[in-house]
Amino acid sequence: MTGTAIWWIRRDLRLADNQALTSALQAAERVLPVFILDPVLVNANNLGTHRLAFLLASLRALDRELQARATRLIFLRGDPLQVLAGLVQTTGAKMVFAESDVSPYARRRDARVAAALPLTLTPGLTCLPPGSVRKADGTPYTVFTPFSRAWRAGLRLEAPLPAPAAIPMGAEVDGEAIPLQPEYSLGDGFPAGEAEGRSRLECFIDGGVDHYSVRRDRMDLDGTSSLSPYLHFGMVSMRQAVWVAQQAVRRQAGSPAEGGAEAWLNELIWREFYLSILHHFPAVIRGAFKPALRRIPWRNDRREWEAWQAGQTGFPVVDAGMRQLAQTGWMHNRARMITASFLVKDLLIDWRRGERWFMQNLLDGDLAANNGGWQWTAGTGTDAAPYFRVFNPVLQGRKFDPRGDYVRRWVPALAQVPESFIHEPWRMSPAQQEQFGCILGKDYPAPLVDHRAARQRTLLAYQAGRGAAG
Ligand code: FAD
Repeated sequence: MTGTAIWWIRRDLRLADNQALTSALQAAERVLPVFILDPVLVNANNLGTHRLAFLLASLRALDRELQARATRLIFLRGDPLQVLAGLVQTTGAKMVFAESDVSPYARRRDARVAAALPLTLTPGLTCLPPGSVRKADGTPYTVFTPFSRAWRAGLRLEAPLPAPAAIPMGAEVDGEAIPLQPEYSLGDGFPAGEAEGRSRLECFIDGGVDHYSVRRDRMDLDGTSSLSPYLHFGMVSMRQAVWVAQQAVRRQAGSPAEGGAEAWLNELIWREFYLSILHHFPAVIRGAFKPALRRIPWRNDRREWEAWQAGQTGFPVVDAGMRQLAQTGWMHNRARMITASFLVKDLLIDWRRGERWFMQNLLDGDLAANNGGWQWTAGTGTDAAPYFRVFNPVLQGRKFDPRGDYVRRWVPALAQVPESFIHEPWRMSPAQQEQFGCILGKDYPAPLVDHRAARQRTLLAYQAGRGAAG
């Protein structure tokens, strides 16, 4: 073991259970932790302001952890191959270690780097390598349930690795200061860093997971882990999450909480599933997985698109979701399904626009999960809901926000509106609108569409699209 290795950090912003870092420490005497801000990813991949700020804040947190181990993060910008080649030359590093990734861009980038430099890619983004879960005939799964069965059968989980006590500093290299711009303004809801991710995981496993199956769909309750931004940037590893989920499954066996941890583990497997889909079918990032649904005649009305973005559609639960996204950079899963369905199936706007908007605004914006979620909702994807299943925003609201607390929290104009009208304020008489301080068309918009008519219009458009696809 000699010399220096570069630990090339991408979306593995953690010291614990980091297989790239561990491999670098095993292979070399000194390790240089390096993050390269790639302009291609900043500009082209919709790395919105919030997510960029969250990433930078998380890098600062990682740097503090590294400084506590007498080393530091080298922050650089530019084309990764050029930057790494320069670093290898100046430091004499013999090896570069990084956690492998599956997006088409990441794979092209890593292939370029590997062709020129001694790059070793390690697992860690997923529990099972994305290409490894296949049917008996070697083809990939395109339906979740059999994928999850095979995933569970193939899982041989080793205990997560502890954070290294020491990381011997590599050569002195000048890096840039990690920028403070754009400022991280959503920090209250999602403080950055590995320690925060770990404490959320522990807290959820010690409590929330016991109620997960009954509370996870309720938008008015904090029934889910809120770990997605931390999983996206690898402040929590999948192995850490799956490891504690399995412990919770064992703990819950035979107790009233039984099923909670199983349900949560199942959601983690959805993450693995969509990463596997992206690995096998990279074309999903450009269009519908189902060829028959590639030619739907979208309306793409600009005024309606803007109303959806701004949370001004007149459908309370849709507007609450869109405003939660704008104000926190996160949205409840049920609200993601409702708002996405409304855009696609009520407004007949191309799902790829909504996908892009989510990517620009979500702290957890993730190519694989976001694409999977949008294609599922649009009915165009691998494991999608049938295209003719259209969410009714009023019924969804009544069922998953029964008292209307979620709506009142994010749409203050409806704060005084009682339960009986909260999901259909247009049913209030003018006197009731006056009484509850919410005049439609003034304090809160009238509904943008008639849901039943919009549903019919969408079904016809999908049928026309299928016909056009021949
Ligand atoms: P929990 O319920 O606590 O689940 C734990 C973890 O499992 C999540 O953090 C996430 O990593 C994973 N997970 C849960 N559900 C899913 C799912 N359906 N697909 C893939 N992974 C899942 N998730 C993202 O991480 N990034 C996205 O960009 C994203 N975009 C979405 C877009 C749409 C239209 C839809 C319908 C869903 C999207 N999801 C996305 C999935 C899901 O909404 C979020 O993962 C979840 O709401 C995050 O909250 P949580 O951490 O509390 O989840």
